[in-house]
Amino acid sequence: KNMVNMIAAGEVIERPASVVKELLENSIDASADRVHLHIEDGGKKLIQITDNGTGISAEDIPDAFEPHATSKIRTVEDLTSIRSMGFRGEALASIGSIASVKLTSRTKDSIQANSINIDCGEKGEVVPDSSDYGTTIEVRNIFYKLPARRKFLRTANTEMGHISEQFTRLALANPQLEMKLSHNRRVLHNLPKGQSIEQRIGELISKEIRDNLISIENQERGIMVRAQICTPSISRGTNKFQYTFLNGRYIRDKFISHAIKEAYRGLLEPGKHPVTFIFLEMPYESYDVNVHPTKTEIRFDNPNLVHSQVLASLREKLLNVKT
Ligand code: ADP
Ligand code: MG
Repeated sequence: KNMVNMIAAGEVIERPASVVKELLENSIDASADRVHLHIEDGGKKLIQITDNGTGISAEDIPDAFEPHATSKIRTVEDLTSIRSMGFRGEALASIGSIASVKLTSRTKDSIQANSINIDCGEKGEVVPDSSDYGTTIEVRNIFYKLPARRKFLRTANTEMGHISEQFTRLALANPQLEMKLSHNRRVLHNLPKGQSIEQRIGELISKEIRDNLISIENQERGIMVRAQICTPSISRGTNKFQYTFLNGRYIRDKFISHAIKEAYRGLLEPGKHPVTFIFLEMPYESYDVNVHPTKTEIRFDNPNLVHSQVLASLREKLLNVKT
């Protein structure tokens, strides 16, 4: 059974950055407003996350590591309007099956914390522990019993780059959250809660980009398009600086990429790509996130409408701005 879990885990957990993404999403789902991440050796040695969210009660701690034991979806109808970041109940089970994990948690109405160790699927007992309200998860030596997967991991720097990217996506989508990231005891980002999106872009992406943003807000036909986009003079040699979020979730979508390209048509130097941060809000029922385990791919019920709303919102502003 353990081996099957270990293999299946590969679908969601590919590298340390996948662990970081899943754990950050869990903290957000637990209504935390402070999340601290500490990484050692690009996450190969340690990924540690501490949040001040709801916590997990002693009775519920063992279940959190059971596959498909999610507390977030109860009915089939829930599946058509997913508001939480997670809903498959797969992440903790997968992570627990491929690493040495310790979870410590304390709910608001508990006088003490409890913890559990799980080592490549071998679950220990829940024992009393001490900690503040919230949850801490330590993930050590990812894939250490799976040499073929362990070998696939890159240098600490490369793995850290992937982790930073996941951190950046979640930090841009959640400016209300205090977020800290450190690597080998060095603080890389320390973002206070309640920053503006412009401040986050300045701290996570670049000051030059922050200083050349155009704000867009356009609500029409059931879609709210909020965006911070750079003037055409500030462009990049890659399309890496195109961040799109749908109801707070980072997504990649070819209709939206196409709309961005169309909006900047004729305005950019050859070989240059626009820098855009787009935050879409639309009814949870009007798209499907249950397409791929990592949930960055989604399916719109009406992709053409999304395309035309994004294109129109950006194009109008770009044609009116002179630089
Ligand atoms: P999912 O997020 O899809 O529900 P996970 O495997 O990521 O599944 O987590 C399993 C369950 O463990 C969650 O449904 C939640 O009840 C609980 N949980 C996980 N992380 C946290 C956390 N940081 N704070 C509170 N509860 C958590
Ligand atoms: Mg989750």
